[in-house]
Amino acid sequence: MSNLPEVPTPQPETDQNQSESSDNDQRPGISVIVPIYNEEEVIPELYRRMAAILDNIGQTWELVCVNDGSRDASLSMLLSLREQDARVKIINFSRNFGHQIAITAGMDYALGDAIAIIDADLQDPPELIGDMFEKWREGYEVVYAVRAHRRGESRFKLWTASAFYRLLRRITDVEIPVNTGDFRLIDRQVLLTMRRLREKHRFMRGLSSWVGYRQIGIEYQRAERFAGDTKYPLSKMFRLTLDAITSFSYIPLRLSTYFGFFLALASLLGIVATVVLRLSGNNAFLGQASTLVAVLFLGGIQLIFLGIIGEYLARIYDDVKARPLYVVSKAYGFADLSNHGNASQSPANLSEPHELEE
Ligand code: UDP
Ligand code: MG
Repeated sequence: MSNLPEVPTPQPETDQNQSESSDNDQRPGISVIVPIYNEEEVIPELYRRMAAILDNIGQTWELVCVNDGSRDASLSMLLSLREQDARVKIINFSRNFGHQIAITAGMDYALGDAIAIIDADLQDPPELIGDMFEKWREGYEVVYAVRAHRRGESRFKLWTASAFYRLLRRITDVEIPVNTGDFRLIDRQVLLTMRRLREKHRFMRGLSSWVGYRQIGIEYQRAERFAGDTKYPLSKMFRLTLDAITSFSYIPLRLSTYFGFFLALASLLGIVATVVLRLSGNNAFLGQASTLVAVLFLGGIQLIFLGIIGEYLARIYDDVKARPLYVVSKAYGFADLSNHGNASQSPANLSEPHELEE
């Protein structure tokens, strides 16, 4: 893409500096961000239900679909939806960057005063956006959905999810509400604050707690996936868990210090005990096997903690490399800010995209 239009250097947007004068007229009341990865089976139904509920709320709206490198017909379906309804906007990634990054891109582009984030698979009922919007009107700046019940999910998933939230609650410094996903509605000011958080390994629901503001949860029944299979295999869940923990806690790093103190103390006692036993003529601890076991045990522990340090180190390295969070091959319905998110460290990128004709 060589002959892109010159993008004027936008003013940095911070929560102190919200001179968003440029396209106030075009700004919709509500933006809904939907990350989409191989969701061809659900897109028509998603649009039908979403359009119905959003029309019902009576605000102008835009549906910001982030196509996260789908390999199926998702993109062409979105494009034909956009032909019928220009309120459907599309950000097409150059490849799969992952769910959390797709949400981030949606947030970088969304123009609405209130911004909802929802999964494509209709596990989160779009109808709840109406209730969230009401809470927003009452003055809450973050309205998150709390899963009261989960149907159609395996015991294993229920158990791992609950263990995950309990662990996270115990070891992180940020109050991350239990049993919430990324389904939420946030105020534009929260969005602008969150845009300034550009870390690579992102746990969006944690970041949305981190920013503070007036928050409230509303309960809902999580439905079954409308169609298709989960796009979150165990490996991705595991990665998200590690990102969540490393983003919000240093406890794994401290564990090695605690363990080191404990072991130092224990071996001191061991030395004293050995000397005493030796002097009293007892040869109990002198076997080769006991030495080998102790060395292997400590070797194992050291490797584990090296691994933990590695997890943090890799994340530091990723952030230092300062690569863009994502690459957009084309945005439909937005200005083609090709540098948008591409030099993610610079606040100059965090401004509003300007509406352009495709
Ligand atoms: N998703 C995505 N990129 C990915 C994986 C998932 O954009 O690499 C989207 C997916 O299309 C869906 C949402 O993230 O809209 C949540 O995925 P899914 O419903 O499969 O996760 P689960 O509900 O099973 O945890
Ligand atoms: Mg789902």
